[in-house]
Amino acid sequence: MSDVFMNTYQRLPVTFAKGEGAWLTDVNGKRYLDFAAGIAVNCLGHAYPPLVKAISEQAGKLNHTCNYYMSDVSAAFAEKLVAACSGAGMKNVFLANSGAEANEGACKIVRKYSLAKYGTGRHTIVTLRDSFHGRTITTLAATGQDSFHKDFGPYTEGFVYVPAEDIDALDRALNPATTAGFMLEAVQGESGIKPLSAEYLAAAARLCAERDILLVFDEIQTGVGRTGTFLACEGYGIKPDIVTLAKGLSGGIPVGAVLAGEKAADVLQLGDHGSTFGGNAVAAAAGLVVLDTVAQPAFLREIARKGEMLSTAIAAWKHPNITAIRGKGLMIGVDIDSEARPVIEAAIGRAKSGGDPGLLVISAGKKTLRMLPPYIISDQEIAQGLEILRSVL
Ligand SMILES: *Cc1c(COP(=O)(O)O)cnc(C)c1O
Repeated sequence: MSDVFMNTYQRLPVTFAKGEGAWLTDVNGKRYLDFAAGIAVNCLGHAYPPLVKAISEQAGKLNHTCNYYMSDVSAAFAEKLVAACSGAGMKNVFLANSGAEANEGACKIVRKYSLAKYGTGRHTIVTLRDSFHGRTITTLAATGQDSFHKDFGPYTEGFVYVPAEDIDALDRALNPATTAGFMLEAVQGESGIKPLSAEYLAAAARLCAERDILLVFDEIQTGVGRTGTFLACEGYGIKPDIVTLAKGLSGGIPVGAVLAGEKAADVLQLGDHGSTFGGNAVAAAAGLVVLDTVAQPAFLREIARKGEMLSTAIAAWKHPNITAIRGKGLMIGVDIDSEARPVIEAAIGRAKSGGDPGLLVISAGKKTLRMLPPYIISDQEIAQGLEILRSVL
């Protein structure tokens, strides 16, 4: 492995060379079933033919224009994206390049909305304990985990954390004199695939609406079909003020998006925000394929069905080392009674040259196995992957 990289990742001992569908092949020719999808990014699997075609054709025409101009493809992408999110009340979009950048944009909208309407002093953004919102200084501050608040201070001020599922604590924290926004993940991804209850989310939506506090759904991991509806908030029947997307949105090309509903749509005005690469033509061309494929009722139903099949199959093992199974759609967490890392390594180590395949799963927290397979995975591939998991457990 190369030692010119900064030492920020504890990489697993495998180097990939190519992929196809739900399969990856490493530089030694060993094959792996992919239940990780690059952390919910490769939602249409690897080398999905329409995606390859759209990206290559776009690269042959126009990669980038910058935002002094419009490109036909980024306009088409933005329109289709807002249409796909219109059921959740979204009216317009700002295109960015990553999840953290999308969440930064959301925080700016929240703060400016409140400042313009109520003046200074009402800027607090409430987030949840065990949330994850990104790695920039502000999104680390938004992330409600003390372990992320160590080495890079001072962090952005004005974030307050409450424990998930505690409606009384939320009621107290959402002080209308000081609070501008509430940001949450409908299913907490990085901290262990923890779906919030419909009751809690309904209470959050009601409290925010009553107090004119903007409700932000960070759908960077849950969005773009992952939970079986295009946005997770739709599955709960909630219309947030702001939704952020990234990860799967362009099927493997960097992208991010901040979508705004009625209240938040006109907050950012000329010069308030920008991003050189935002709306990049290749990312937009890829995003169009993802939207055309995923934002379809029949396709979304298949995601829900496959997720159900996957978790039901694991539950049926009644495996003595599995202590809980949680999730929604193809976003599934399996708690085990030991560290996840050795299981993840064993599932990779099972790959033999010219023989048995390995399996890629990731973790969420220390003892949770996280599965985020590509949506195009077949029932048979799910069964095959689960056999590998069972054998290493
Ligand atoms: C991955 C993730 C982010 C950060 O996205 P980046 O593209 O890595 O900046 C933010 N929020 C959630 C919920 C995520 O899963």
